[in-house]
Amino acid sequence: MSYVNNIINLVKEKYPEQAEFHQAVKEVVESLEPILKKCNKYENSAILERLIIPDREIHFRVTWEDDNGKINVNRGYRIEFNSAIGPYKGGLRFHPSVNPSIIKFLGFEQIFKNSLTTLSMGGGKGGSDFDPKGKSNNEIMRFCQAFMNELFRHIGAHTDVPAGDIGVGGREIGYLFGQYRKLTNRFDGVLTGKALNWGGSLVRKEATGYGCVYFAQEMLRQRGESLDGKICSVSGSGNVAIYTIEKLQQLGAKPVTISDSKGMVYDKDGIDLELLKEIKEVKRVSLEEYVKNKSSAQYTSIKDYPKGKNPVWHIPCFAAFPSATQNELNADDAEALIKNGCICVSEGANMPSTIEAVHKFISAKICYGPGKAANAGGVAVSGLEMAQNASMTPWTFEYTDKRLHQIMEDIFNNASQTAKEFGEEGNLVIGANIAGFRKVADAMIDQGVI
Ligand code: GLU
Repeated sequence: MSYVNNIINLVKEKYPEQAEFHQAVKEVVESLEPILKKCNKYENSAILERLIIPDREIHFRVTWEDDNGKINVNRGYRIEFNSAIGPYKGGLRFHPSVNPSIIKFLGFEQIFKNSLTTLSMGGGKGGSDFDPKGKSNNEIMRFCQAFMNELFRHIGAHTDVPAGDIGVGGREIGYLFGQYRKLTNRFDGVLTGKALNWGGSLVRKEATGYGCVYFAQEMLRQRGESLDGKICSVSGSGNVAIYTIEKLQQLGAKPVTISDSKGMVYDKDGIDLELLKEIKEVKRVSLEEYVKNKSSAQYTSIKDYPKGKNPVWHIPCFAAFPSATQNELNADDAEALIKNGCICVSEGANMPSTIEAVHKFISAKICYGPGKAANAGGVAVSGLEMAQNASMTPWTFEYTDKRLHQIMEDIFNNASQTAKEFGEEGNLVIGANIAGFRKVADAMIDQGVI
């Protein structure tokens, strides 16, 4: 059996219930075949065996009191995967679906994504099965404080630097940071995504969405195409989707879809960004509110979705931006996109396309930017926030955005040149995975058997 198959079997045998983690490992290691065949130093140094086991997995209990005085108990996680090229870095996800498999798939992806940014960051991820939906501001604060009561002893500006992900935005980072500072009596760059008046970076909020569109622009430029005047489909309605839509509109494109956990909106006149921000950033309510305020929009409740299909991907579009969550786009959805003329998919979410969907995109030879390359802009600006914190100097919006744009171009060029080097021109899955892997694996070899 090949080295790669051995690794896939090993992961399934050791962690039989972790389906998302299996998927992430399979997707990466299968695409590493060309480099593993060419250079046997990786197998000889047991690099894959070492990469699939995190440096450490921290599981803890979070106990907090709600507004009715009821005591609630949640699970908390921080998985420190690999620190060969920098301190562990990656977001925290608060969502009821969070479990060890989800956090491990995210942490594993983060190793390669962070490596691609060109900045000095290792890979980690954390979170909780806490559901922020419907909670009061005080409940969110008490939960964040309780979560930090354990997390603070594991993190540090040179050890592990968490940030946001689904369910964790500026408000939560504020409460987490406040509690860290209270417990440690330290003010340092231990979290990213901070507010601008206490160490945050301009462009961090916009970075994942803007970066994902910059990546799409690069892919399209190679084919002499642009986004100007084009219909685009976007899923999700969180931070990534909102700033993807903002950048698309700045470039003259027309995003027509958004979605949340309850349903989707199709607005043939194009998404009203101000209305969307009001609903999701201020009121924090469901997208049903959008159609009440916009007559050109149609709402489909998740209860009415055709079985096994995500209707967002069945609206004809030129480019698609999956920005909701993992496995939100399957083979049928991919086929519909391709059939309806979509020539570009740039992933703002982590692992939104199933492995079968990815195969469809690759064989149809459309522009396909896998999440770990296309959505690396978020963590890249987190890296820039760390640089600003370390030098105690804030940068301007224009300068930070320019750095983000350059990083996205560099990631595209690195992935596309690496694909070419290994005889797989145009395949950015292989290019991104090999390029991300090579930097980390070589660092591990340089640093010895540890
Ligand atoms: N959660 C984001 C991601 O998936 C950002 C992580 C960070 O900024 O550390 O990459």
